[in-house]
Amino acid sequence: MTSEAPPKPMRRKVAVDPRFAHYRGVWVFIENERGQVHPVSWELLGEGRKLANTLSVPLAGVVMGTPVERTRQICQETFHYGADLCYLAQSDVLTDYRNEPYTQCLTDLVNTYQPEILMLGASTLGRDLAGSVATTLATGLTADCTELAIDPESRCLAATRPTFGGSLLCTIMTQRHRPQMATVRPRVMAMPDPDVNRSGQIIEQAFAMPEATIITKVLEFIPDDMSGKPNLAFADIIVAGGRGLKRAENFQLVWDLAQLLGAEVGASRPVVQAGWVEPDRQVGQSGKTVRPKLYIAIGISGAVQHRVGMEGSDVIIAINNDPNAPIFDFAHYGIVGNAMQIVHALTEAFRVQ
Ligand code: FAD
Repeated sequence: MTSEAPPKPMRRKVAVDPRFAHYRGVWVFIENERGQVHPVSWELLGEGRKLANTLSVPLAGVVMGTPVERTRQICQETFHYGADLCYLAQSDVLTDYRNEPYTQCLTDLVNTYQPEILMLGASTLGRDLAGSVATTLATGLTADCTELAIDPESRCLAATRPTFGGSLLCTIMTQRHRPQMATVRPRVMAMPDPDVNRSGQIIEQAFAMPEATIITKVLEFIPDDMSGKPNLAFADIIVAGGRGLKRAENFQLVWDLAQLLGAEVGASRPVVQAGWVEPDRQVGQSGKTVRPKLYIAIGISGAVQHRVGMEGSDVIIAINNDPNAPIFDFAHYGIVGNAMQIVHALTEAFRVQ
C-alpha cells in the first residue's frame, strides 16, 4: 500500500494588476456614536497596521460626524492606535448615523483619495454602511471576516470568512476592483495597545448635503440602555454551557460557577434554542464573538460554528465526557468526565478558596 499526500488546493497565481497601481493605502472607518467610538474600530486599526506594513503604505482612519472638538480628539486617538493619517469630515447632516449622507461622504472620500483597502466593523452600523458603499462604488465586499492577510504575489487582500453555514472557511480575494472592502466582527481581532506618543496628519474633507434631500430623518436619539444586559464581548471570564448539561435545571451549575468567578454566562446555540438562557448569551457564528482571558466550556462539543466565536480566548478549559469531542482539539486544558459532577466539585473547591 502506498501513502500519497492529499492533493493541494488549486490556487491560481495572480500578478499585481497595473490598473490599480494608483490605489494606495489601508483605511479603517472609525465608527462613533455621538463621540463614543466603537472598540471594533481600534481592533481594526491594529489589524490594518499589519496590512499597511506588509504593503508599505500608510494606514488611515476615517472619522465623520460632530461635535467638532470631539471628532478632532478621535482623530488623535486613531494615531495612538496606529494610524498615520486621519480623514475628517464634519457636517451637521453627519451628526447621527444615516445611510444616505454617510454613504455619500465615504464614497466621495474613496473616489478622491483612492485607498486600496477599506475596512469597517461588522456592527449594525458598519454592516449597513459597508453594503451601500460597496454597491455605490461597484466593488467587492467580504463580510464577517475572521482573518485578513496580504497575498504577496498580487498584493490583494486575502479575506477569510466562514462559508456553507460555517462548515468551511473560504479565502476571498477581490482581484478586479478597488478598493477591496471587508467587515470584521467585534472581538475577532486583538485590541492593540495605544501609544499616546504617536501622532499623525489630519486631512479635512468638506462635505455638504442639503438636509431636504435626505429621506431619513432622526426624530429622537435614545441611547441603548445596557444596564442589566450581558456584556459577553468584553468579559474577562466566561463560563459557557452546552447541550451536554442535558436539562435546563442543570444550567444552574453554570450560573453558580460564573457567579463565584465573577464571570459572564455564555451558551451554545441549542441551549438558547431550548430557551434555557436568553439569545444575548449565545456564543458563535450566529451569536457573539468573545475574547476573554478565560473561557470555560461545559458540555459543549466545539462545533465550528461555536468555535469561530470563542477561539480567540486566551485560555480555554473544556469539560466534556467524550475524550474525542472536537473541543479538545483546540482547548488549552481539558477535563474528561461528567459535567454535572465536575462543575459541582469545581464550584465547591473555588468556594473554599
Ligand atoms: P452538542 O453538539 O450536542 O454537544 C454536546 C456535548 O456535550 C458533546 O460533546 C457531548 O460529548 C457532551 N456531553 C454530553 N453529556 C455530557 C456530560 N454528562 N458531561 C459532559 N459533557 C457531556 N452553535 C453555537 O454554539 N453558536 C452559534 O452561533 C451557532 N451558529 C450556527 C449557525 C449555523 C448556520 C448552523 C448551521 C449551526 C450553528 N450552530 C451554532 C450550531 C452548531 O453547529 C452546533 O450544533 C452547536 O454548537 C452544538 O452545541 P453543543 O455543543 O451545546 O451541543
